[in-house]
Amino acid sequence: MNFLKLIQPTPTYYLGEEANNQIYIKRDDLLPFSYGGNKLRKAALFFEDLQKADSDYVVTYGSASSNHCRIVANMAASIGIKCVIISTEKGEETLSRLLCKQFGSETVVVPVERVHTTIEKVMQDLHSRGCRPYFIQGGGHGNLGTRAYDLAYDEIKNDEESLGLTFPYIFHASGTGTTQAGLICGKLRHHDDFRKIVGISIARANPYGGQVISDSVSDYIGHCASADVIFSDAYRCGGYGKYDPFVEKTIDRVMTRYGVPLDPTYTGKAFCGMLRYLTEHEICGRNILFLHTGGTPLYHDWMVRR
Ligand SMILES: *Cc1c(COP(=O)(O)O)cnc(C)c1O
Repeated sequence: MNFLKLIQPTPTYYLGEEANNQIYIKRDDLLPFSYGGNKLRKAALFFEDLQKADSDYVVTYGSASSNHCRIVANMAASIGIKCVIISTEKGEETLSRLLCKQFGSETVVVPVERVHTTIEKVMQDLHSRGCRPYFIQGGGHGNLGTRAYDLAYDEIKNDEESLGLTFPYIFHASGTGTTQAGLICGKLRHHDDFRKIVGISIARANPYGGQVISDSVSDYIGHCASADVIFSDAYRCGGYGKYDPFVEKTIDRVMTRYGVPLDPTYTGKAFCGMLRYLTEHEICGRNILFLHTGGTPLYHDWMVRR
């Protein structure tokens, strides 16, 4: 299975007027494997590397609602290799967890302070049994993850050309930061000084959150100016997985008006953050791109639980 073949240009189109701006949306949630999303772009590159290394095991970590773990587990099952997921939460029956079970992956649950040593132990055990395990950081972090969105940036340039416009702002949900780091690398590579890439933090606070992104950019291209990283922690609603009534109302409204599922952990929160950011920064009448980073199973989790 060549997962890179799945990475084809995603639909980018005019959504509607929101917060006095023209909002366009890029549907990375529609990438065609395991509900798509930004983790698919990253995992496709990691699995290319894994297949080159002829690994027979993949080891990664993430939460019960991790989109990354779901896609890694699915890809592993698809090519018949084993998958171990290290997680810090007991199995809340999320759709992602159920899917990981369906894919036959093994989940090891440990307290957060033991994640690091558990990963080392699992890797060592596999090596000593003669296996060839491949490790992927949570969220698909690292240079390959950054590369995924450096490449996606070119796709956005093509989208602009076919739509006959430019996006002075790109908004998206920012977590471990490689999606944003990749987009920033693409922007720097093209010298697109006019463009602001605004990551709406769904978990981390500054300065740490922004620092991780500039570190990722530096790792990838050797330098990063702090002005290149716009990581807003103003709309976190208190942290990972938390949200407020405006987020829920907006998810309802965006699904009803546009038929686009958002979720309260990532894209719903980011979409709300974008609307608030545009208003608070008095940005009007511009063409704005919202990058939909996926997470459709989380929309369903929210729907059945609300
Ligand atoms: C992981 C994730 C993000 C954040 O991406 P990072 O590269 O970790 O910043 C955003 N949206 C969704 C749906 C995700 O699963």
